[in-house]
Amino acid sequence: MRRVLAIALLALGFLYNVGGAAAAEPSRPRSFVIVGATVVDGSTRKPRIVNVRVRGDKIVDVGNFKPKLREPTIDGQGLALAPGFIDTHNHSTQGLESEPGAPTQVSQGITTVVLGQDGGSPWPIAEYLAAHRKSPPALNLVMLVGHATVRRKVMGDDFRRAARPDEIAQMEKLVEQAMREGAVGLSSSLEYEVGSYATTDEVIALARVAAKHKGFYISHIRDEADKTLDAIREVITIAEQARIPAQITHIKLGTVGVWGKTGEVIRMVEEARDRGLDITADCYPYTAWMSNLKVLVPNKQWKDPASVEKALADVGGAKNITVVRLPSKPAYVGKTLEEIARAEGITPVELYIRIVDDDEAGIVCHSMTEDDLRAFYARPWVMVSSDGGIGVPHPRGAGTYPRVLGRFVREKQWLTLTEAVRKMTSLPAMRLKLKDRGLIRKGKKADLVLFNAQAVIDNSTFAEPFKLADGIEKVFVNGALVWNLGKATGERPGRVLPE
Ligand SMILES: [Zn+2]
Repeated sequence: MRRVLAIALLALGFLYNVGGAAAAEPSRPRSFVIVGATVVDGSTRKPRIVNVRVRGDKIVDVGNFKPKLREPTIDGQGLALAPGFIDTHNHSTQGLESEPGAPTQVSQGITTVVLGQDGGSPWPIAEYLAAHRKSPPALNLVMLVGHATVRRKVMGDDFRRAARPDEIAQMEKLVEQAMREGAVGLSSSLEYEVGSYATTDEVIALARVAAKHKGFYISHIRDEADKTLDAIREVITIAEQARIPAQITHIKLGTVGVWGKTGEVIRMVEEARDRGLDITADCYPYTAWMSNLKVLVPNKQWKDPASVEKALADVGGAKNITVVRLPSKPAYVGKTLEEIARAEGITPVELYIRIVDDDEAGIVCHSMTEDDLRAFYARPWVMVSSDGGIGVPHPRGAGTYPRVLGRFVREKQWLTLTEAVRKMTSLPAMRLKLKDRGLIRKGKKADLVLFNAQAVIDNSTFAEPFKLADGIEKVFVNGALVWNLGKATGERPGRVLPE
């Protein structure tokens, strides 16, 4: 009898020690309950006040249960609790190296970022992912393989032409390698320098490889100006021929000539969806885009005054274009092309031609309308993305998600809170095939955002793009608190997904 008791005590001691080892991380209790928050669970279900228990990295209970004796609790009364926001277009690939705590991202409620956008990804992907597994950031990351990256690897500097069949075959091998190494899909920008010389068939060939690995295709389409409709038709062709789910990223109508054509764009996408193609889009909540100077002139005649003149007119004039980065002339930063040209005593066309060779030049261009933005967000297949990321000098880099929740849900009432949260959580999770995220359900991973729906608002502006938002009170990634009442906690529980 005594022996049995001794063994039992030994066993207890063993258990106790295991517990003691886990307690080495005092900021992470074994379980805690968020009490009394209004749970907006990521689906179409109506918000309801229930308790949510988290143990380790998982949600283990959702309902009207009582916390256990001495179990830590977080008071959620008066606050909304949503799944962590999943950003399908994020430019933090470099930023995560220098700023792994990612305060501009987690302060918005973002818990997962999709990197490798617009055709550009790190290479080799395995190395980047291994480094971030070893030294994780505050949030989860997902990687895409970039079309321009593999194109440059195969064609070198001789990329201003269609690729030969043997070159496409080599690119296919690289996409294959990247998909095996953990990429979830293929990204392209067919509007930018390297990708723009690719034929549709080249992209189809590479998308087929991604499809074989159950990946998806996401594209900054070939034209976001007067030929937007043709460019959307091309995405649909690629999806159909490669049999791959496809996403039109940062969908927009960015020139005067296509303003108001949302009806046509939506009809085209919905006809494709009705035929069984899996086409979605993501959209950032701003009427100004940010890119390089060259992208303004779609025919690439950057030194031809007539082409430049038309391009400026197409976006509503030189007053709509602000220089945000220009290493060759930093004094121009923060001013519009119209202001700079006037000060220099030249025309905006002359100014453009003078500075366009600066490859680092960045501009913000106010050339979209709010009506078009609203029409896109009204579609159930359009999700919220930022196209921002750490250090991106556009207010979307620090303000996207609070802006949608504060301005488009609360102030303008374009969307219900339920639908906006779905566009930030379960819809992108579905696109990325992240089966254990995007919903507040028993068994899902505990990526959570506790926020004040009455106060949440973005503060970042074009003049101060890095100003943090208000109203996002607590953010959890894999059960660990990364953002608490205006401060990063220093926890870095992020993972490379899918696991
Ligand atoms: Zn883009």
